[in-house]
Amino acid sequence: MMKRFFTEWALYPFLIPLIFILNELRSVYYEYFSTGSIDKLIFILIIFFTNAAIYFIAYFVIKNKIKTGILVLIPLLFLDFYFDVFNYLIQFSFIKSLTDFVGFKIHWISVLVLGVFTLLLVVFLKRTKYHFLRLNLYLNIVFGLFLGVEIVKYTFTVIDKHDIKLENTIEGQLKFTRNTKSLPDIYVIIFDSYTANSSLKEYWNYENVEIQTFLKDRGFRIPSNSHSCYNETEFSISSILNASYLNVQNISEVKRSRFSDLVECYRNNKIICGLHKYGYKFSEHSIFNQQKIPNLLDFVFENLYYRTYFYLIQEKIFGLKNPEYKAVNEKIYNEVMSTEKQSVPKFNYIHLALPHCPYIFDSTGKEITDKSICSNCSNKETYEQQLIFSNKLMKEIVDHILKTDPNSIIDIQGDHGFRFLYQESKKDMTEEGFTIFQAIYLPDKNYTMIPDTIYAVNTFRYLFNAYFGTKMQILPNRTTNVIDLDEIREIK
Ligand SMILES: [Zn+2]
Repeated sequence: MMKRFFTEWALYPFLIPLIFILNELRSVYYEYFSTGSIDKLIFILIIFFTNAAIYFIAYFVIKNKIKTGILVLIPLLFLDFYFDVFNYLIQFSFIKSLTDFVGFKIHWISVLVLGVFTLLLVVFLKRTKYHFLRLNLYLNIVFGLFLGVEIVKYTFTVIDKHDIKLENTIEGQLKFTRNTKSLPDIYVIIFDSYTANSSLKEYWNYENVEIQTFLKDRGFRIPSNSHSCYNETEFSISSILNASYLNVQNISEVKRSRFSDLVECYRNNKIICGLHKYGYKFSEHSIFNQQKIPNLLDFVFENLYYRTYFYLIQEKIFGLKNPEYKAVNEKIYNEVMSTEKQSVPKFNYIHLALPHCPYIFDSTGKEITDKSICSNCSNKETYEQQLIFSNKLMKEIVDHILKTDPNSIIDIQGDHGFRFLYQESKKDMTEEGFTIFQAIYLPDKNYTMIPDTIYAVNTFRYLFNAYFGTKMQILPNRTTNVIDLDEIREIK
């Protein structure tokens, strides 16, 4: 009975999209932008219904379940796994030289070949008297096993997840002892991947003096030895805003951590929770709360569409959507520049995706449109250009804040350093990932309690001890490498 069912029904055309979807869900499991998002659901529906539509169109032509299955097998695999196969084949030098010779047309030629093959197969299947029962059973079993493997792997991914937890607490420590009649607004301004002045001097031979003079003139203190504790944005920000280390010790734990948990962790951070009781409101102008965040990260396409032939069609018909760094940074900047002092104290979290790559601005802010130039993250020259432009924005933001809200606490810092020093030793490259720019402003300009060496996890501990007279414990200095630098080297 069972055997008859598996012999006489072609099930695998419906298993193929399920295998693809599960495989896809597994690969995006740890990422926050697509987890639970409507985009993901739409994508799943598109894949499933397109696959089903192809099956039913083919059935309309062939009018036999088993022969329809055989006919659609290759087209379905082609549609769903096109780039997986293509990227695999391109490793072979013969295929590589062929695609280099033919160029982008190789993708259209492959459709043509598929089309001709499918037409011939239609003619053959229409004419043959053979029933293909054994082949059908075999394909059902093979794809059934593949699906089983995907289900097991997906289950393991979910079970094996590393839960992000805070190692330290500020419970009971956030008690202001200073007269708090007029509470200052607090501004945390993150310039993503803004490295330390000492590094700029050592590796770029660039003296970042102008911005230092500007900030010092306005009463800022610039610690000379600031470090991030993690060399990756989400980890670093979660740690800073919770004034705590995370229970992440190595890259294996990182790879099993969900980025959506980190975003939760920073959004419900302990500093804000502690400040709520003093009436502080949270205000966020950051890359994390932008509608267009999925487009900020190149690999979204790789995950959601890049593997399928849909990706190619979309690219050809609608053009490839570039990550909208420019629009996102401009939006954040404009939001910040229009903020005004309000009656309740505010904690403002501002996070620009600058001077982080892609390097889309030259030093004057003019747009660089050549994608091959701006997407080369390891180019120190273009990084420097974008950093100089970031300084311009920093000055305007600082002047805006000091004009509208002079009685405020300001912390400007990088979330990690520059991580692409391929020319240097691995040790230097690793260390450089943790050196950051930092500048601190306190309304009373009393910096006696702000040391020269600050590890970002302690930023708020130092700031609040210095200004509010809290007795927050200073944590030991520590860094954790959460990026596989060899992987970065490979993708360069
Ligand atoms: Zn970052």
